Amino acid sequence: MVYDILVVGSGSAGLATGLAAGRRGLDVMLFEKESIGGELVNRHTIENFPGIPGTTGPVLRSTIIEQLEEDTVPITLATVEEIHDEEPFRLVTDSGEYHGRTVVIAGGGRPRKLDVPGAEEYDGRGIFYCAKCDGPLYAEEIVAVSGSDEWALADALYLTKYASKVIVIEEGDRLIAGGSLRERVDAHPDIGTKTGTEIRAVEGDDLLQRLTLVDADGNERSERVGGLYVQQGIEPRGTSLAGKMVTTTDCGAIVVDQALETDRDGLFAAGDIRQHSSRTIPAAIGDGITACQSAVRRLEANE
Ligand SMILES: Cc1cc2nc3c(=O)[nH]c(=O)nc-3n(C[C@H](O)[C@H](O)[C@H](O)COP(=O)(O)OP(=O)(O)OC[C@H]3O[C@@H](n4cnc5c(N)ncnc54)[C@H](O)[C@@H]3O)c2cc1C
Repeated sequence: MVYDILVVGSGSAGLATGLAAGRRGLDVMLFEKESIGGELVNRHTIENFPGIPGTTGPVLRSTIIEQLEEDTVPITLATVEEIHDEEPFRLVTDSGEYHGRTVVIAGGGRPRKLDVPGAEEYDGRGIFYCAKCDGPLYAEEIVAVSGSDEWALADALYLTKYASKVIVIEEGDRLIAGGSLRERVDAHPDIGTKTGTEIRAVEGDDLLQRLTLVDADGNERSERVGGLYVQQGIEPRGTSLAGKMVTTTDCGAIVVDQALETDRDGLFAAGDIRQHSSRTIPAAIGDGITACQSAVRRLEANE
């Protein structure tokens, strides 16, 4: 069978692509290697979803999955390993090969790891990347947050539910996120901020205990912490699947045009994985719909 659209990933972007394709009656197949819904599974409160303030990732996820079921859009639990430049495209997965006239890569990204001495050793033993998953483990402890974009500050506020104190550490000379989030962080009695400060190393015994910090003047000091939550953006994943068919930026994001098409006709990228993504759930959903419409135009042009 040759599908109209094959979709790599079932996060917000992949699910939305599937939904838009299902509504048009296209033959579409989604592939997911971990959890259906991608990062939606981890987003417990979503404040910025237009029209549904305070919704949650799991609620959005299950609602979209119900909609997909109504339109009988299939999701295969498999890892896509390669996308071959053939007509139609050939996708190699760990459970077989699939053919599609168009492909949408919606693989999202994984959290960018801290890259300092000791970081690997204390990964999972004090260094964590999901505030909502691991934050409760640090009750009554001092927790540092590395990074200061809007997700980092939102999670710093969340961590105050458990930690005795939260220290936001930002290398730049000011916090990245602005607006009401920053005001809430600035006003919070249990949050301290350190801008112009670099984490040089992490140390401890069995568990993380100290950060070595260096300020903008080069002064080094040791900060005692029970945990370090790292929120330094993401590394796109799945970009190597398409080999030379796509161009990527220095950060690994896939370069696309306004139709979300890559350098290869009929191959699209949507959501966090693409260049200039605004890295939000509503934007990823919008991308999925755009990618589907662009794929339809490509299918019609090739008829
Ligand atoms: C801490 C944090 C908090 C956030 N909070 C918010 C918020 O409140 N509101 C908001 O709008 N956004 C928030 N975001 C951003 C939001 O989570 C992302 O923008 C959104 O989830 C991106 O969706 P996506 O579909 O591009 O990727 P993902 O949700 O990452 O989904 C990609 C999927 O593709 C799968 N995949 C990857 N490679 C393959 C492969 N080779 N084969 C098969 N499957 C594959 C992955 O397993 C994954 O399930 C937050 C992000 C972080 C890090």
